[in-house]
Amino acid sequence: MDCIFCKIIKGEIPCYKIYEDSDCLAFLDIAKEAYGHTLIVPKKHSSCLMETDASTLQKCMNVVKKVGDHYIKNCGYDGFNIIINNGESAGQSVHHLHIHLIPRKKGDCMGLWHLPIDETDLAEVQKHLQIVEEEVDDNKIVLYTDGACSGNPGAGGYCAILRYNDKEKVISGGDAETTNNRMELLGVISGLKALKKSSEVDVYSDSAYVVNAFLEDWISYWVAHNWMTKGKKEVANVDLWQELIELTGTHKVVWHKVKGHADNELNNRCDEIARSEIEKYKEIK
Ligand code: 5GP
Ligand code: ZN
Repeated sequence: MDCIFCKIIKGEIPCYKIYEDSDCLAFLDIAKEAYGHTLIVPKKHSSCLMETDASTLQKCMNVVKKVGDHYIKNCGYDGFNIIINNGESAGQSVHHLHIHLIPRKKGDCMGLWHLPIDETDLAEVQKHLQIVEEEVDDNKIVLYTDGACSGNPGAGGYCAILRYNDKEKVISGGDAETTNNRMELLGVISGLKALKKSSEVDVYSDSAYVVNAFLEDWISYWVAHNWMTKGKKEVANVDLWQELIELTGTHKVVWHKVKGHADNELNNRCDEIARSEIEKYKEIK
C-alpha cells in the first residue's frame, strides 16, 4: 500500500521515534511547525477516525496519555493540545489516522485556536447540529418472550425479542441453576428493562404462569396477602414478581397468551434462542 505512515511503521521511511508499542507508534512531525509536534498513529491502517475501531482508538489514546504525561513530567511542559484532522476540508493530508500532539508551555503564544468569530445564535446552531434520537412509536412496541429449562430446576435460558418501528432488538441470557418459571419471568423483565422510556407494550408469552398472574390478577391477591397463595403457601419467585410489577408500573403492558411451540414465528425464535442459552449455561456448570 502506498501509505506514507504505513511505510514509516514498517521502517521503510525513517522517522524520529518518540515511543512505540505493539499497536502504536509516536514520532515527530516533519513539519517542524512547533517544537515537539508529535504524531501518534495506530499500526493497523485506517483512513480516518470514522474508519477506526473502538479498541484501536483506545490504544491510540492510551499512547497519547503516555506521551503527554511524559512531556509534562519529564520534559518541562505544562500541557498539550491534541488534534485530529478528519477529511480534506479539515486539513487531513495523510489518510492514515493520526493524532497530532502539540506540547504546550505557559506563555508560548501558540494560538492554535485563531478561529473566526461566528455570530449565529447558538439555539439556531443547536437546531441544525443536535442529534435527535429516533422516536419510538409507543403504540407499536411488541415484545415476544420465552424461557426454557433443561430439568426443573436445571440450566435455563430466556429470550426477549422487541420490535418497534422497523427495528428489532434481541436480548437473551440464562442461569446455570434455575427453573422454567424464573426464565419465563426473566424473559419479560429483560425485554421491558431494555426500553429507555415509559411505553405501551404488547407482551406475547406462552407462559400461563406469567400471563395469567396479570390477566386473572393473582398479583393483587398475593400483594394483599403478603405473598401467600390461596393455598397458604409462599409465592415462589417473589424477587422477580416484584421487579416485574415495578416495570408494569413504568410501562403500559397489554398481555397476550400465545400457544407455545405452534407456528408463531417470533415465539419459535424466542424458544430457539432461549434453548441455545441453556447450552451455554450447561457448559458453565
Ligand atoms: P494532517 O495534515 O493529515 O493532519 O497531518 C499530516 C502530518 O503528517 C503533517 O503535519 C505532516 O507534516 C506530517 N507528515 C507528512 N509526511 C511525513 C513524513 O514523511 N514524516 C513525518 N514525520 N511526518 C510527515
Ligand atoms: Zn497506512
